[in-house]
Amino acid sequence: MRTTAALTFAHKLLARTLGPGRVAVDATAGNGNDALALAGLVAPDGVVHCFDIQAEALEKTRKRLEAAGLGHLARYHAAGHEAMLSRLPRAHHGRVAAAVFNLGFLPGGDEAVITRPKTTLAALDAASAVLAPDGGIAVVCYTGHPGGADETEAVAAWCVNLPFHAWRAARYELVNKPGCPIIAFFVERRSET
Ligand code: SAM
Repeated sequence: MRTTAALTFAHKLLARTLGPGRVAVDATAGNGNDALALAGLVAPDGVVHCFDIQAEALEKTRKRLEAAGLGHLARYHAAGHEAMLSRLPRAHHGRVAAAVFNLGFLPGGDEAVITRPKTTLAALDAASAVLAPDGGIAVVCYTGHPGGADETEAVAAWCVNLPFHAWRAARYELVNKPGCPIIAFFVERRSET
């Protein structure tokens, strides 16, 4: 797995709002690392909605969670994350404490199957619509694969355009790391006036 500083930081930030019984979304299940972290935080009685367009990814995620004894917490959606609004039960709208988008391709899988700006932005709109008042969204973007830099720019623009009276959006990047930057964005509702 690509454990990056950005991802570790994303998990730490989201851990602030997650806890037993809460609802989380893994918008890109992949190999199940993020889903496992989310499930550990919402156990013993929370829910993690896992989205992926690849059956292989959902199966890997299911095995990871089952092996950890956390399989009962997961709801699997063999669908693009852009379908989040219709896939999440109405009772979970407004109750999502954390949503993680770990973009790009499935490590160890088909590198041609990647997240794409149009569907990623539609899914970010959906995630922001179902977020709890104290909820947060983490988006980890990779710039090293074809299309990755464009998608990162699109996500950055989406964050920048969030109205400041309602949202706080931040960017995390290791500026001294050689190679292609991995950039994480964090979005949370502003509760103060
Ligand atoms: N979170 C994963 C983990 O912990 O191992 C890594 C995710 S991987 C970097 C990106 C995943 O996004 C791939 O598994 C890919 O199939 C998935 N993906 C691509 N387009 C998608 C879409 N529209 N909706 C949901 N998942 C998508």
